[in-house]
Amino acid sequence: MTIPQQDHTRTDQTRTDRTPDDETTFPPSPEFVADAVADSSLHDAASADRVAFWAEQSRLMLDWRTPFTSTLDWSAAPFARWFADGELNVAENCLDRHVRAGNGERVAIHFEGANGDTRTITYAQLTADVQRAANMLAGLGVGQGDRVVVYLPLIPEAVVTMLAIARLGAIHSVVFGGFSAESLRARIEDAGAKVVVTADGGWRRGAVSPLKPAVDEALQGEGTDSVEHVLVVQRGGNDIDWTDRDRWWHDEFAAAAPEHEAQAFPAENPLFILYTSGTTGKPKGIVHTSGGYLTQAAYTHKNVFDMHPEKDVYWCTADIGWITGHTYVVYGPLANGVTQVLYEGTPDEPKPGRWWDLVDAYGVTVLYTAPTAVRAAMKAGRQIPEARSLETLRLLGSVGEPINPEAWQWYRQVIGHDRTPIVDTWWQTETGGIMISALPGVTKLKPGAAQTPVPGIVAEIVDDDGHRVDPGGSGYLTITEPWPAMARGIWGDPDRFVETYWSRFPGRYFAGDGARLDGQGDIWVQGRVDDVMNVSGHRLSTAEIESALVGHEGVAEAAVVGAADETTGQAVVAWVCITEEAQASITDRDALVQDLRAWVAKRIGPIARPRDVFIVDELPKTRSGKIVRRLLRAVTEGRPVGDTTTLADTSVLTALQQHTARKR
Ligand code: ATP
Ligand code: MG
Repeated sequence: MTIPQQDHTRTDQTRTDRTPDDETTFPPSPEFVADAVADSSLHDAASADRVAFWAEQSRLMLDWRTPFTSTLDWSAAPFARWFADGELNVAENCLDRHVRAGNGERVAIHFEGANGDTRTITYAQLTADVQRAANMLAGLGVGQGDRVVVYLPLIPEAVVTMLAIARLGAIHSVVFGGFSAESLRARIEDAGAKVVVTADGGWRRGAVSPLKPAVDEALQGEGTDSVEHVLVVQRGGNDIDWTDRDRWWHDEFAAAAPEHEAQAFPAENPLFILYTSGTTGKPKGIVHTSGGYLTQAAYTHKNVFDMHPEKDVYWCTADIGWITGHTYVVYGPLANGVTQVLYEGTPDEPKPGRWWDLVDAYGVTVLYTAPTAVRAAMKAGRQIPEARSLETLRLLGSVGEPINPEAWQWYRQVIGHDRTPIVDTWWQTETGGIMISALPGVTKLKPGAAQTPVPGIVAEIVDDDGHRVDPGGSGYLTITEPWPAMARGIWGDPDRFVETYWSRFPGRYFAGDGARLDGQGDIWVQGRVDDVMNVSGHRLSTAEIESALVGHEGVAEAAVVGAADETTGQAVVAWVCITEEAQASITDRDALVQDLRAWVAKRIGPIARPRDVFIVDELPKTRSGKIVRRLLRAVTEGRPVGDTTTLADTSVLTALQQHTARKR
């Protein structure tokens, strides 16, 4: 890759508006275009009449029991209603209709347990399981509008439970299995859940990690009296305590009637509550409803991932505890009748390369994962994926954080054989589905940029005053028009919804990310605006400095924060993890630190040269794998770190604190 020289002498605020990578593009190959699901006519149709476009997509993607006549009702903005007089059953759209269409024998889920146990579940079997599970839950008193908390490992029963709840018109609230009893308690209380579905335990790195004890502890806590039953899947085989309200899944399931007739529910019937992952602070219970959500889930899944249900094997590595697992493990793929892989474990158990073995074993064609996983694979070394075939892969996806151009290139070269398109998909819990992404058969790809709103979505980058910035400018990423999968609110707190997302720029949706528009009008998401630094009056993006660092051959992962500094206001402080290879070969760490400081200065400009570079083993991350810069800032400034409940591993912080203490 050639790096064009930049002009570092300009001192205005736009000096980081170009990065060296603007010029690198990958047009779709003729072979990909020939068979692509989406072509540019989608963009044309959406710009001609956006609302009519969504109506058409909804009719195309879903089976409506009662067709809608009204597409969008925005009269109570920002609380949207989509397809409001239509009726459908979400689970029927994900299951029964595929069986009726003659695809019952198609595999819905290739399940692989962490320990290597496998199950192959066809659409006919999944439909039968969900019908029985719906009867089982109805037997426990679950009906339309009731809330059910799901606290399960990533096993087929989790998917079955979510769909059974949807089938009954009830509302699920999935809580990631790694969350503590207190996080679980707070979510049970907030939703007023009637039933909790859990497992005795799940498997992690060859050992059982118990789940039921956390439920027991949560239910001893305040505000959980609403819970009438706890349904327990036997998975870990670990010993658990038992109370009167507990029921074994296998007993209830066997006793339930096999057939369940799906009832139609209004499009705006709530489907789920999901708490945001908590990178910036206290999680919010985001509410999604049925018809609009499922429309956008199916539409984006089909077009962004170029889904050919009759031949693709799709794998999204997200846990169902996150929005990505809701939209792109459960609802999108199943609405589209696609075959997918569901894997319970971690990328490197029992040994490095497990993911790549799974790609080969199941012939995965489309892989959707997060930058953190790509960087972890880079850190471990390319020899691991290179020892596998990975020949079946034809499209890769990324979500969750900005993907550094260097990681993008590595992903394409090493995992994608220098051939696969990569779609960098920007979206959020609140948006419900993908909002900004390339279309793989249409867009010329740019490593590191999310690029273009998907057809039907209108995004704009605005300045502090809410004015649209010109190409070359940067500011705040906003959405100007309502979209089908948009959140319908925060559970129990409509005011907080308006306040959090709609008040900073009136009439626009703003959820906290900064972005810049390059000369060709492509969008580069720069991360959370809270993370943007101000050094001697210059606005610097953490994402760009991190990308520069990751571009150094010894660096696998980097996090940059702006720490209070007496002379410059804020100073750039970098925390880096080095690759396994560099760890083995580097003897002089101080020299590496100096080298990295100079490297950033050369690539971005002297103003971006880090004041400190700390080499560490791990960075603090949320349980969904995102770097938590808020905490790094506190550590850097020697302040108390405050709430750490969203962290995957709090011991990382202690290790970091030792670094700064040594420095001070
Ligand atoms: P919280 O809102 O509770 O702080 P969170 O924002 O991490 O947590 P999610 O809804 O899971 O919770 O994540 C959405 C955020 O992830 C986006 O706002 C953005 O910051 C980041 N993100 C997701 N996809 C991308 C992407 N492709 N490029 C850049 N950033 C992304
Ligand atoms: Mg967020």
